[in-house]
Amino acid sequence: MKQTKSYLAKTVEDLKPSGIRKFFDLAAGMEGVISLGVGEPDFVTSWSAREAAILSLEQGYTSYTANAGLLELRNEVSSYMKKQFHVDYNPKSEIIITVGASQALDIALRAILDPGDEVIVIEPSFVSYAPLVSLAGGKPVAVQATEEYDFKIQTHQLEKAITDRTKAIMLCSPNNPTGTMLGEKELVELATFIEKHDLLVLSDEIYAELAYDEQYVSFAAIEGMRHRTLLINGFSKGFAMTGWRLGFVCANEELTAAMLKIHQYAMMCAPTMAQYAALEALKGGREDVEDMKKSYRRRRNYFVQSLNDIGLSCHIPGGAFYAFPSIVSTGLSSEQFAEQLLIEEKVAVVPGNVFGSSGEGHIRCSYASSMEHLQEAVKRIKRFVER
Ligand code: PMP
Repeated sequence: MKQTKSYLAKTVEDLKPSGIRKFFDLAAGMEGVISLGVGEPDFVTSWSAREAAILSLEQGYTSYTANAGLLELRNEVSSYMKKQFHVDYNPKSEIIITVGASQALDIALRAILDPGDEVIVIEPSFVSYAPLVSLAGGKPVAVQATEEYDFKIQTHQLEKAITDRTKAIMLCSPNNPTGTMLGEKELVELATFIEKHDLLVLSDEIYAELAYDEQYVSFAAIEGMRHRTLLINGFSKGFAMTGWRLGFVCANEELTAAMLKIHQYAMMCAPTMAQYAALEALKGGREDVEDMKKSYRRRRNYFVQSLNDIGLSCHIPGGAFYAFPSIVSTGLSSEQFAEQLLIEEKVAVVPGNVFGSSGEGHIRCSYASSMEHLQEAVKRIKRFVER
């Protein structure tokens, strides 16, 4: 049969492939590369969590769970959120266990967007946000956070993007790719803005466990914001469980019921074995999480200081495991810098422009890599910059 038209959905045809992948593919074919490119922990999931998953298989727990996830796990997530982040969600009606924070973002957007609704995406941003908004039928509207304010978004910057179609804002703190964390004062200012414009907030708190200098404050804990927030979190980062694909979303009953409709038809439930692992990760105490956090903090201090010493100015990221130094002093664009650094010195980083236009002039380096690798990477970057 002769194909006379494209069978693909226009929205999908229009999506650009992730700019991060291009560099992964380039680096994958080379030997001796130190990768500071990937955004994932270099730790293995705790043994007790892995053992719990193995035990669940031995016991034959291989069927679906409730759509929203094992009630036992939702109970545990509820206690965890209360204890760690001072937010209170009913495990029976306000929490859904999802396939990573990724699926939580997807169902949150699909639950609230009608075609053409606008969602503000603060750039530099995690690469999935704008595509997920488009796939949900919405229109992503980029607003640039700038280096001048340490990449902390200012309400006067947001104000210009508001239209009568603006429905929600995507918030990510600590941030991927900048590592910037918003403190309580900044969140309260944002809350006033949100209230004034009657918006919802998708608060992606996947890096909440990795806050190094200040106490983490959840956006849902800010007065008046609970009913406006779809709080997204998960096990990938804080618990080193990326491959298990497990996250969760917390919101009021109305929003949760809407998300659950999508989840039950599109996904049924998150993987059972992974849910048992997560249950143990939460029950098993804080030691592993705290140890990993201490280690990231040490590496952050070393790495960011070294970048500044080399002459690549870098603000101290308050959380996550990314440094986002300026490379403007080299006279190269972020793409040129990343490509030449990879080819000449075999260090893989991500050019800042893939996270939005205000990321240009920067590179994202993940310091979730061993100290030896970081030291060697610093040596190579120094050589490259001096050349
Ligand atoms: N949000 C942000 C900001 C992320 O950086 C990531 C992972 N890179 C995700 C969500 C997705 O996490 P998960 O593995 O839980 O789907």
